Amino acid sequence: MPLDDIKARVAAACAAADRPTDDVTLIAVSKVQPLDRVRAVLDQGHRVFGENKVQEAAGKWPALRQDYDGITLHLIGPLQTNKARQAMELAQAIHTVDRPKLANTIARLAQEMGHCPDLFIQVNTGEEPQKAGVLPADADAFIAQVRALDLPLVGLMCIPPVDEEPSLHFALLAKIAARNGLSGLSMGMSSDFERAIAQGATHIRVGSAIFGERDYG
Ligand SMILES: *Cc1c(COP(=O)(O)O)cnc(C)c1O
Repeated sequence: MPLDDIKARVAAACAAADRPTDDVTLIAVSKVQPLDRVRAVLDQGHRVFGENKVQEAAGKWPALRQDYDGITLHLIGPLQTNKARQAMELAQAIHTVDRPKLANTIARLAQEMGHCPDLFIQVNTGEEPQKAGVLPADADAFIAQVRALDLPLVGLMCIPPVDEEPSLHFALLAKIAARNGLSGLSMGMSSDFERAIAQGATHIRVGSAIFGERDYG
């Protein structure tokens, strides 16, 4: 679907929720997509992108930044501690802070590097064993812990279970954020971003709806 159509859907969802359109940042998730599709979206003026692997982002974005100004990159996939430095060099936001060891590493590197990307804590709202993120019951304590490290924590992120109504998970994430005074909500993907906007999403992560299906072959 053309980028303009997605933007129109975002605007309509914002209007329906009585929210200004600029409340919602559209992150174009370019993982696995061929470079010509990524460049086509850049050529249309879009500048906010998401990748879920540090390695892949490192192989792609430094070159694209030579050709296009003002790119903002969001890392939305699981982050290993030993890749934290590279992630902090590449990305302006990390959505997947999910454990004390990673938070401590980021804090140490932030001191050393003199800057830190915006951080989101990933919450495993569906309590799925295979999925990253802190459990909802542990979220308040972990948020406090990250804040105590003086890190730029801006919000929470979730990936709902595939077979459940995502709105319930979006509402849970919004509730945890509200009671902790966090304004950022990274939630909603190609199939459910309108529902996420209705529940207060500030960052939606949309891949296949913009770029087409990913070919993992
Ligand atoms: C791939 C990915 C997306 C985008 O998924 P689509 O269904 O293609 O929109 C969003 N969030 C995360 C964390 C992802 O890994």
